[in-house]
Amino acid sequence: MSHTSKLAIHGGEKTKTTPFGTGKRFGLEEAKELLEALEQNTLFYHFGNKVKKFLADFNEMYKVPYSVATSSGTAAIHVALGAAGVTVGDEVITSPITDQGTVIGILYQNAIPVFADLDPHSYNMDPASIEARITSRTKAILIVHLAGNPCDMDPIMAIARKYNIKVIEDCAQAYLTEYKGRLVGTIGDYGCFSTNDFKHISTGDGGMVTINSGEEEDYHRTHAFADKNYKRIGASVDRTPSSLAPNYRMTELQGAVGIAQLKKLDWLCGRRTELGNKLNDGLKDLPQLTTMKIQPDNRCTYWFYMFRLVDGQLNCTRVEFGAALAAEGIDNRLGYIPSVVYMQPMFQNKHAYLDSHYPFNLTGINYQLGDCPVSEEILRTAIQVPINEFYTDQDIEETIEAIRKITLYYSK
Ligand SMILES: *Cc1c(COP(=O)(O)O)cnc(C)c1O
Repeated sequence: MSHTSKLAIHGGEKTKTTPFGTGKRFGLEEAKELLEALEQNTLFYHFGNKVKKFLADFNEMYKVPYSVATSSGTAAIHVALGAAGVTVGDEVITSPITDQGTVIGILYQNAIPVFADLDPHSYNMDPASIEARITSRTKAILIVHLAGNPCDMDPIMAIARKYNIKVIEDCAQAYLTEYKGRLVGTIGDYGCFSTNDFKHISTGDGGMVTINSGEEEDYHRTHAFADKNYKRIGASVDRTPSSLAPNYRMTELQGAVGIAQLKKLDWLCGRRTELGNKLNDGLKDLPQLTTMKIQPDNRCTYWFYMFRLVDGQLNCTRVEFGAALAAEGIDNRLGYIPSVVYMQPMFQNKHAYLDSHYPFNLTGINYQLGDCPVSEEILRTAIQVPINEFYTDQDIEETIEAIRKITLYYSK
């Protein structure tokens, strides 16, 4: 055991002794935009220019013809589902390892989430599993580019075309993520983004939906769905909705902050890609772990970093590994969410709405342990460490060093 050194948790020397790099996310750029927003004497997106400018800049950056601003990422996904025509009794295929915001809109449309299994190393939806879940009720595939790593879009788009169903991309964790040189959020029918305070860029809360069909009518439908189904494009306003839509409007204050935040996105994602790839490469040779699968022609912008412990290779539990890593000075989290989404009480009891089994009872759907075995294995064996644009190269080197130290110590 000459290659191992005493762990900090056992009283050995701690790997990371200096604090992780930090920085200011907001500055005078945001303050200037906010002041201008207030001086407009209106904070309503339709009357002011900040949300409009924010979207124009976003469209330019993403080279998309249309996008709509929303009050959150959850709202952006709900809006895309509404625009895609998802309604009562439809099925939407999605990921069991994601933020709650992915499934909320499905259920508010009284549609039924159906969960596809994931690739064991990219943690993204497996196209074969998606296809196996398609029924005559399937209206859309809601894919999640987890942690900023792109889903395998070519086969997913081929499946969608084959069955004539829509693809909605949840890009809440995937700013400037690229699939074979194309930005995610521009490949499916709609791309949904979040600007909540924990995402790559923040407007406090907020979101955007891209409309990729290029059809003006599609844009108008999406726009209206974020604003009570009022038609507010052009000079006159039509306040006679023919179906239900929520109010998910973005305010001028969020738009103002968003304008300044977008300017930092390129740098910030560049840094995250650099640091995340460095971390991933630094662990690749360890057979006791599996690293994140990033295809060579893709770009991951690492909203976080997640590796897995290989069963039978280590003399410690995941809890012990995580505790040892924390003792070395590396903040970490076991898995990503406590359980796969379909094991939540809401799905197990089929109670989205109080005292009702609607819409689950429209089909005979049951959610059971074992539905997506790979996803369950991922959550059982994964350890997540944060990545941040303000981290230094040294921070990442020490993270690698600490993970390697613990891995070698507990290696069988
Ligand atoms: C954050 C997030 C959402 C929801 O975004 P909010 O702005 O918090 O509503 C949806 N999907 C994923 C994958 C997310 O990470």
